[in-house]
Amino acid sequence: MNAKDEIIVAGAGLAGLAAALALAQAGRQVILAGPIDLRATTRTVALLDGSMRFFGALGLRERIEAKGAPLRVMRIVDDTGSLFRGSPAEFDAGEIGLDAFGWNIENGILLGLLAEAALNNPRIRHIAAFAESYAFAADAVTMRLAGGEDISGRLLVACDGMKSLARESAHIAAQTWSYPQTALTAILKHTISHEEVSTEFHTREGPCTFVPLPNGSDRGHRSSLVWVMHPREAKRRERLDLETLTREIEKAAHHILGAMTLERGPGFVPMEGLIARDFAAPRLALAGEAAHAFPPIGAQGLNLGLRDVAHLRDCIEKYGADDPGDPSVLDAFARLRRTDISSRTYGVDMLNRSLLTPILPVDFARGAGLRLLANVKPLRRLAMREGIMPQGNVPSMMRQTENQLNNR
Ligand SMILES: Cc1cc2nc3c(=O)[nH]c(=O)nc-3n(C[C@H](O)[C@H](O)[C@H](O)COP(=O)(O)OP(=O)(O)OC[C@H]3O[C@@H](n4cnc5c(N)ncnc54)[C@H](O)[C@@H]3O)c2cc1C
Repeated sequence: MNAKDEIIVAGAGLAGLAAALALAQAGRQVILAGPIDLRATTRTVALLDGSMRFFGALGLRERIEAKGAPLRVMRIVDDTGSLFRGSPAEFDAGEIGLDAFGWNIENGILLGLLAEAALNNPRIRHIAAFAESYAFAADAVTMRLAGGEDISGRLLVACDGMKSLARESAHIAAQTWSYPQTALTAILKHTISHEEVSTEFHTREGPCTFVPLPNGSDRGHRSSLVWVMHPREAKRRERLDLETLTREIEKAAHHILGAMTLERGPGFVPMEGLIARDFAAPRLALAGEAAHAFPPIGAQGLNLGLRDVAHLRDCIEKYGADDPGDPSVLDAFARLRRTDISSRTYGVDMLNRSLLTPILPVDFARGAGLRLLANVKPLRRLAMREGIMPQGNVPSMMRQTENQLNNR
């Protein structure tokens, strides 16, 4: 195959590895550029049902299930102290015919599984170097790697994160913003089982979420924590000794998981938002955090990024048989992604800001919304389905097969 027929994926993070695998499976030659960082972190990712189907289509679902923990119930507790707070709202995956909303897995483990599949895929050539510059022409794109090597392809898929060089080089502007929040992340051991329930406490500083992880080798219970707080509090907690910090985490969990120890962490991530003004340019498609980023509420970020990848694959299959970077592919992709990306980005932003706003009408609206969801079954089901994935325009890798439907 001529090098010009190849697709270049910039960035070998979770979105980039997923893109390389999905496009290679569709029969394309892929060059994946960027180092793969397999160091263990304190970050985990909840892969919702559509993403699990995406990985099922790639033959990776069973391995992810084996290393992750299912999320059968999601519980939201209003811990803002608002006058209008209701009782906790519980969402059970069984109500919408699923065994689980998804699986929670450590980022490092998922990255390892995807990297192994990509490095063993004959259609993927991995180059562990950063891109330094790009040149876009009418019929091809050229990436210059650190070290000076030039690589050409018909399409560049930018999965190079929030500070995407590819996006910048194609002059796609991005709206960025920050929040007065930092997320503390940790991997916890605890004495009381999570019972496959993820619990999100909504506090005045942001959500504090405990997400199930599989038991450790000693059979001890484990969860991951994402605790969004004011940067001042994050700084204070960064200086605490681990014993004192752990007691503060137990208190934030209202002791529902019992006594805790930190298996790893804490890590600290500043909360930022980003949305690209466009999701494609000549010879370029954006995916993952190169296109959108927002705070970790409701496990949306990577799930949205995987939908970028799955939709891009559909567009290439439909319009790009001869040329995966044809304008018709990229126009269709940018159009398809607009509503999903905007609604998730601004929806999460609104919910996050509503927590930070201690004014009565906002508190009332949030409290009433949560009560409606807790008590009105059809609305709750609709919210659960939409929370997992938008119901229109589901990409083919994420559709339920006859088999899956019959097994429900
Ligand atoms: C605390 C926290 C919890 C989260 N929980 C969830 C969750 O439960 N569910 C969910 O769906 N999402 C979650 N997210 C969001 C999710 O983690 C991100 O959406 C996802 O990790 C982004 O992956 P990415 O590959 O797009 O970007 P990145 O992980 O930023 O990867 C970008 C890659 O590009 C590489 N790169 C950069 N520049 C270049 C270059 N010039 N050349 C080559 N390579 C380059 C980088 O080295 C990196 O490997 C969470 C986020 C946070 C902060």
